[in-house]
Amino acid sequence: MRGPLSLDRVGGFFMGVTCAKGREMTQDWNTRTKLVHSGTRRSQYNEVSEAIFLTQGFVYETAEQAEARFIEAGPDEFIYARYGNPTVAMFEERIAALEGAEDAFATASGMAAVSSTLISMLRAGDHVVAARALFGSCLYVLEEILCRYGVEVSFVDGTDIDQWRAAIRDDTKVVFFETIANPTLEVIDIQAVSDLAHKVGAAVLVDNVFATPVFSKAIEQGADVVIYSATKHIDGQGRALGGVILGSREFIRKTIEPYMKHTGGAMSPFSAWVMVKGLETIDLRVRAQAHSALAIADAVQGHEKLLRGIYPGHKSHAQHDMVQKNLGSGGTVVALDIKDGKDAAFRFLNALEIVLISNNLGDAKSIATHPATTTHQRLSDEQKEQLGITPGLIRLSVGIEDTQDLIADILGALDAV
Ligand SMILES: *Cc1c(COP(=O)(O)O)cnc(C)c1O
Repeated sequence: MRGPLSLDRVGGFFMGVTCAKGREMTQDWNTRTKLVHSGTRRSQYNEVSEAIFLTQGFVYETAEQAEARFIEAGPDEFIYARYGNPTVAMFEERIAALEGAEDAFATASGMAAVSSTLISMLRAGDHVVAARALFGSCLYVLEEILCRYGVEVSFVDGTDIDQWRAAIRDDTKVVFFETIANPTLEVIDIQAVSDLAHKVGAAVLVDNVFATPVFSKAIEQGADVVIYSATKHIDGQGRALGGVILGSREFIRKTIEPYMKHTGGAMSPFSAWVMVKGLETIDLRVRAQAHSALAIADAVQGHEKLLRGIYPGHKSHAQHDMVQKNLGSGGTVVALDIKDGKDAAFRFLNALEIVLISNNLGDAKSIATHPATTTHQRLSDEQKEQLGITPGLIRLSVGIEDTQDLIADILGALDAV
């Protein structure tokens, strides 16, 4: 017997042992062990690396078996890839183990996760309170789509707890925010907002991309549902789109699964395999990225070409103490506000030699973005100003390159401004 990994136990998944039992076996593992082994399902070949079950359907031994599975499918009984697939299930179970959530549902992209969760939880007449500083597409769903179906949305400054208190009403059903806001890196206190929301029975829905599943303790701090764009740190190497919704088993199976099954935003098995392999190294990558991010924030503090450098993990950040307490790290993104606006920001971007100009984040490769002209171009000047998206603002997603090389590249580009 080789402990929790012995083949008869892992193989037991195929013998009808439930996923819940699988999780009981692994719950005392520490994070890095979970990231390498949780959720693994081996075929009859006992492969070491997780298999890609690139199939949309599954064969039934008998007509009776098909009938029984359509009445109620067991945790390792699959029907159709829109409903579930063994490789996708490996990803769901591994990310649930990392997050400390009871259950998870994988989606085709981060936005499929955000939109499906909101739509499956809300109906006409419901009220939502959301932080104003949001990823552009999240803002579109809240501002432009939900209202078409009679859902009312109020926006607040997410860092101001009094605004949450004033906006949350007895009929508020959902509160929604990004733990660390994109791109200005303000941090929301999950516990404080959750306490207010739970008083009126509202569910707390957190888009946790910037906080990452490595540093986040969102569920422990009161979030009911946590969403990730897996496209970011979970893949971490810029290969595939994906998303995931995490929450209680009841919520995932009764609210999310029926909606996902019938509306079609499923993750492909190939993407799930990319994400499963991404999870193996996410803790190593994200910690290295956060380490470099802090070193970069330190190196640019007070630089003559900057109005400010923003990093939630740096002692100069207004919310530094709360960030340390809630996350233990400032994450992997630094923002630089360059003096003299857009032209100076463009000169900075064009002078970078290692850091790429692109718009992904959480990647192994460092990436710089000019939000005002790309990701947040759609916003009015007034909205940009309200959110602190100045013409000189650069969002820097720190990769896993050598820290000193990155600092030299960034300081060199600042010189060229
Ligand atoms: C990228 C991102 C999304 C959307 O994810 P996709 O995988 O691109 O659909 C949602 N929220 C935040 C905070 C993001 O950074």
